[in-house]
This record gives sequence, structure tokens and C-alpha cells, in this order.
Amino acid sequence: MPRPKCCRRVAGLPRCNVFKPAGIPACSLEEVILTVDELEAVRLADLQGLYQEQAAQEMNISRQTFGRIIESAHRKVAETLVQGKALRIEGGVIEVAETRSFTCYDCQHAWEVPFGAGRPQECPKCKGLNIHCAPEDRGAGRGQRGCGGRGRCHRGGRSASGPKPAAPPETKE
Ligand SMILES: [Zn+2]
Repeated sequence: MPRPKCCRRVAGLPRCNVFKPAGIPACSLEEVILTVDELEAVRLADLQGLYQEQAAQEMNISRQTFGRIIESAHRKVAETLVQGKALRIEGGVIEVAETRSFTCYDCQHAWEVPFGAGRPQECPKCKGLNIHCAPEDRGAGRGQRGCGGRGRCHRGGRSASGPKPAAPPETKE
């Protein structure tokens, strides 16, 4: 009996949605669309090195379905790299696995753990113990979260001092 296509489980939404070759204007590039479930398949199989069987379980799909997804993903990534196209990650029928956010009040480091993984003992960055669960719905925290609507916004990690401006604003005068 065919499974409904509904809800391939992914651990999170991508940090970056568009990749393109440097120095070529986006408007003159062909775009390849990689769905979020295809990206998740790449993450599980190629980055984490899981067997397809395990990866399929992670995504709550059959191994056959996983095989099709990863094959499609590989073809798209290859097409992007070999033919110099832009890659946009969007779409797919997915369900985002729940995570909990934690913030270290000592160094302001913020990170996420999968729901059910338990409360972390210490800050992974400074080993501090002054950590707090920071549910999305607490809302009122400092600064608004950047992305429109759908919940969590990763700021990219690395620098704890906040986002660095991509380009200085041009003077208007
Ligand atoms: Zn810390």
C-alpha cells in the first residue's frame, strides 16, 4: 500500500536558501531547485554518513523513497556544480522535527537540541552552567528574529557578537 507523501521529517530548515557562483549576476544564472527534504537526505547520507536504511528512519519514510530522494538530490547538486548554476533550496512536503532552544546567560551563546534529547548540562561554548531554555513562544526576548513567519531563524553561529553587516550602508546625501 503506497504511503501518503505527507511529511518527510527534517531536523531543521536550511541556514542558507540560495547558493550561486561568485561574480555572475543571479539574473543570468539558471536556477536549480533543491527541496528541503532533498537537502535533509544529503545531510543524513553524505554529511552524517548514515546508511540509507537509518537515514530513511530519521526522515520517517521508506528506504525506497529515501533512495529516490537522495538520487534526485545528487543529480541536482552535480548539475549545479558542474554546469555552474544557482541552487535554491525550497519546498518539499516536510515536517520540521521539534527542537528546543537554549541560551547561555554567561556568553550569550544560543543553540538548539532535538526535542527529547534532554536538558544540556552546560554551555557547549563556555562550559557555563547558567543556561536557560528559550522557547520560541516566549517572544519578548531581545531583538526580533529575522525571518518571516515560520519560526526559527538561525543566525549562522560562529560570532557570538551578532550579525556583521554585509555591506556598509551607502551615504544617501
Ligand atoms: Zn556560555
